[in-house]
Amino acid sequence: MKIVSRDQWFEVEHRHDGICLIHEPYIRPFYRCNLWHIQGRERDALIDSGSGLVSLREQLPWLTERPLLAVASHTHFDHIAGHHEFPERLVHPAEADILAAPTGANTLAKDFVGDEMFEAHPDCPLCYAEYRVKAAPATRLIEEGDVLDLGDRVLQVLHTPGHSPGGISLWEAATQTLFSGDILYDGPLIEDAYHSNLEDYAQSLARLRQLPVRNVHGGHFPSFSGERMHELIGQWFNDHPQLT
Ligand SMILES: [Zn+2]
Ligand SMILES: [Zn+2]
Repeated sequence: MKIVSRDQWFEVEHRHDGICLIHEPYIRPFYRCNLWHIQGRERDALIDSGSGLVSLREQLPWLTERPLLAVASHTHFDHIAGHHEFPERLVHPAEADILAAPTGANTLAKDFVGDEMFEAHPDCPLCYAEYRVKAAPATRLIEEGDVLDLGDRVLQVLHTPGHSPGGISLWEAATQTLFSGDILYDGPLIEDAYHSNLEDYAQSLARLRQLPVRNVHGGHFPSFSGERMHELIGQWFNDHPQLT
């Protein structure tokens, strides 16, 4: 397999409103997590931290030049394996035990990490051959109704279980922007992980549908509009008639 040097591993794309997408282009799309960096006046937030194969702190030192809240949308390996690098780590209580004691089984790494996940490997031979998610115990638990105050902007925590029990979305009402994690993105959704729950899934989607959303930045795949969100949720309920 092709080897890519570590300084090529991450790609950073600036979006509107101080939002920036960080991702790992040599991980194939279905496995590639979107890391959302949101800049505030007093502190920044980073939603999810990716595969952990290459150090975010080393490759993107600007990340830690300012106070940073490293939020876990949920605790699957592709979203949390870089969290141990950051001092402030936030997660919903329902998955705090996984962030504190991650295993191949409870983070899904055992089911998904393999050669088919990569277009290329980073130049650290053991980081994928002996893949392990490092423990990153939470320093703050975040639940429904909490807010992350970044100074000049606030993100509301919505508990959106279904894909996993402690899944959260973050809602920025001022810009009508939703960060949805893995409960909703424009690609194949996973609703049959060991701790998924279909009824919770339906309730979470029904709730997101009520929000006046303009932009959705999900845990995987490209961002989309509020209109597309309604299509995707409508499609999901058509596929699950027993849950409507
Ligand atoms: Zn997930
Ligand atoms: Zn994911």
